[in-house]
Formats: sequence, C-alpha cells, structure tokens
Amino acid sequence: MNRNEQLFERAKAVIPGGVNSPVRAFGSVGGVPRFIRKAEGAYVWDEADTRYIDYVGSWGPAIVGHAHPEVIDAVREAALGGLSFGAPTEGEIVIAETIAELLPSVEQVRLVSSGTEATMSAIRLARGFTGRDAIIKFEGCYHGHSDSLLVKAGSGLLTFGNPSSAGVPADFTRHTLVLPYNDVAALQQTFAELGDSIACVILEPIAGNMNLVRATPEFVRELRRLTTEHGSVLIYDEVMTGFRVALGGAQSLHGITPDLTTMGKVIGGGMPLAAFGGRKDIMACISPLGGVYQAGTLSGNPVAVAAGLKTLEIIRRDGFYEQLAENTRRLTAGFQAAADAASVPFQTDCEGGMFGLYFADFLPNNYNDMARTDTDAFKRFFHGMLARQVAFGPSAFEACFMSAAHTPELIDETVAAAQAVFADMAA
Ligand SMILES: *Cc1c(COP(=O)(O)O)cnc(C)c1O
Repeated sequence: MNRNEQLFERAKAVIPGGVNSPVRAFGSVGGVPRFIRKAEGAYVWDEADTRYIDYVGSWGPAIVGHAHPEVIDAVREAALGGLSFGAPTEGEIVIAETIAELLPSVEQVRLVSSGTEATMSAIRLARGFTGRDAIIKFEGCYHGHSDSLLVKAGSGLLTFGNPSSAGVPADFTRHTLVLPYNDVAALQQTFAELGDSIACVILEPIAGNMNLVRATPEFVRELRRLTTEHGSVLIYDEVMTGFRVALGGAQSLHGITPDLTTMGKVIGGGMPLAAFGGRKDIMACISPLGGVYQAGTLSGNPVAVAAGLKTLEIIRRDGFYEQLAENTRRLTAGFQAAADAASVPFQTDCEGGMFGLYFADFLPNNYNDMARTDTDAFKRFFHGMLARQVAFGPSAFEACFMSAAHTPELIDETVAAAQAVFADMAA
C-alpha cells in the first residue's frame, strides 16, 4: 500500500468514510483520495510526495494561489495578536466596508463561518422580513446542508419538496418548492399561483454545484421582476461565484440587484469565513436590532478576517481578473481542441476563474441536461489526468477553479496532459 492508501484505511477507522466532507472520498470516481501534505501556488503535494497541478483550489477559495506569501503573512500577524475574542474588531468593519464597496447591492453585511450558515441565515431573515414561510430553490443548485435546503422536487410543479437526505423530517421541507433551473414558464406559473406566499427565491446565479451551468439572462430578469412584484426576497447565493467569476460577482455580470447575497469561499481566502448581506431594511430585522435570531461564537474571527482582507486586496489589483479569465480561456480552449482532435464528445464553458467540463456534445442548461452527460468518460478523464499529476475535483458535477498562480506555461502543461488522456480515451 502506498501512503495515501495507508492513510485512507487509518482514516476510515476513526472518521466516517475517512473524510470530513463526502465528495473528498472519491466515491463517484473510484480509487483512493489523495491526502494532501501541503500546497503552494498552483500545486498540491500528497502524502506519497506526488506533486499535482491543482484545479480544485479548495473548491474555490484559493483564487490567489495556495499559501500566497502576503496572505500567510497577514494570517501570521493576526494570529500573534490572539485567535478569537468574542468581541467586535476593526477588521470586521473594514471587510464589511470592502464587501459593500465591491457589491453595491450589499448595504449591510454580517459575517459567519461557512456558506451553509450564510444561506441558512439569509433564508431565516427573508422569512422573518416577509412573514412568509415558502421558499423556492432550483434543481441542481446547492446552498449548503441546512435542513430546509436538502430537498428534492415534489411530484408536481406546484407540490412542495421531499427531503433529499435521511434525518430531515418531511415537515422541514414542506415549505420548499424545487423548480427546474432556467425554466421561465415554471417560474411564472408558480408565482401566478403562490407568489404572495413566497418568502424568497434562492439562486446560484452561475450554478457551480452541477458542474457549471449559467442562468440565462431572460431567467434572471424574470426572476427579479416576479420577486419584486410579489414582495419576495431575491437571494443570490454567490458563495461560489462571489469574487470568483468577476470582482463584483455574478450579479455584476447579470446587471441584477438582488435583495440579499450570500458569500463564502473566496472571501475567507482559505479560512472559515462567509457572509450574508444586502438591503439595509432587510438586514435591520436581524438581532440585536430585529427579531430574527442569528449568532456565532467564531463569527468574524480575526484570523479569518485577516486572510479574507488580504485576499480581497490582492484580487482588486489591476488586471487581476483579466489575466485570470484569459488563463481560464486558454485552458478550456486547449482542452476543447484536444478533445476535438481525438473525436471525444466534449464541451467547456468558463467565466472568470471558474470553468466547466462536460462529456457531451451539448452545453447543459439545467440539472436534467447535466445528468445526461457521460459520467464514465469523466471518470476516465479524471483518473487519466490524476495519473499525469493534474488534479480536478473528484466528481463530474463540480465546477473547476483557476488561480492567479496558474501560469500560461502550467496551463500548456495541463493541456498537453489532456491531449494524451483524450487520445487514450479515443483508443
Ligand atoms: C460551497 C457552497 C455553499 C456551502 O458553503 P460551505 O462553506 O461548504 O458550508 C453554499 N452555496 C454555494 C453556492 C456553494 O458553492
């Protein structure tokens, strides 16, 4: 057994499935997860001392590259001053001001420690603000693992959802409607029937948890129009897309002003930090000002805030997103050419520092489309690339991430590996 195999066996004895988040177990691609010893720039090293070019990026946070020296210095300095106080700090104000400046829809913001907390709190807030219970989410979008969001579609368009996880009482998902992504007619019909009882609609504006699927301009325009007309809160879940697809998030690309936005991943720069914010009149409903309870022992943690602030400083530098987007396009174009040359059915899409790879001859528009892609082909691609020391997320249903540390040379190296893998797949 190599060291990854040994560690996986050891882990499974004391950690359920050997991992602390299920996708890490390689369940959908098979094989043994790589236990990571360290990461730097565009690389991660596993415990068997193999170095990989990494396109997981900790599932999004590592946008400036792993262990960026300026971020590490900021973390070190903050840590020397104490790890947690349970009292307000100036850094929290600075990061709130920075977020409000970068996202004009966010007038006020509250910090939490995970994306799950951010979306759960935003939904409670929307319900408290509107005095309504029903919420709408879209099939294939992931908003963290709180009870009312672990839900799959009911039997008909206007029937409320069923739990998608054991341990979630059906009563808890009784208020969650699950609609198909990008389906304008379904949205219109639902609002026509139930609009005045909908507290909020939560959307991944560029879905990154069913690979990468864009919301269409008509869809988001209609969503904004209907939620405004019916007094429902529109929540953009930008935990993944925020500061990832553009400095102003997906909302800046859509030209849509949501009522609330949830953030995570990039804003913590690799530390546990997330946030939700938006309209001041809505945010005023949170305790201690209002009656919607929300709290956290480690919320606004000074070390996490220091990592986040430094990351936000780096991504605001001139040309950061232009370079990132150009590099992402270089990679996806290289992959497309390699697949075409080998006649492997394959498509790509990208925005900013996020990209999708689809083993299909079409671009998916919703979850059903994504489910029709060839996941066996993805598995072969994934393992072929891993064997050539390039790491992608171990699932066909996850987006991939570029960092500023991925140079054009490293990207060309990645494309060369892909050429070999596609050729193998065609043979
Ligand atoms: C990752 C993610 C979450 C959950 O964030 P955690 O920090 O893992 O709890 C929520 N929404 C979206 C869109 C995400 O990508």
